[in-house]
Amino acid sequence: MTEIPADIRDLLACPRCGGVLRDSRVGGGETLTCDACALVYPVEEGIPVLLAERAQPRTQAEA
Ligand SMILES: [Zn+2]
Repeated sequence: MTEIPADIRDLLACPRCGGVLRDSRVGGGETLTCDACALVYPVEEGIPVLLAERAQPRTQAEA
């Protein structure tokens, strides 16, 4: 599985609140979670998709 390089990972911020994103793993894939917004952003083929319309609510997404 492709991991996000740490230097790129550190530059990522939630597009909604600008907050820190936490590495997570939802639905068997790599994801990024914003705890402030309770949103889970997908990571597709190692590329974070930081679009609010693509994010899922954390409470539903996280098992
Ligand atoms: Zn946020």
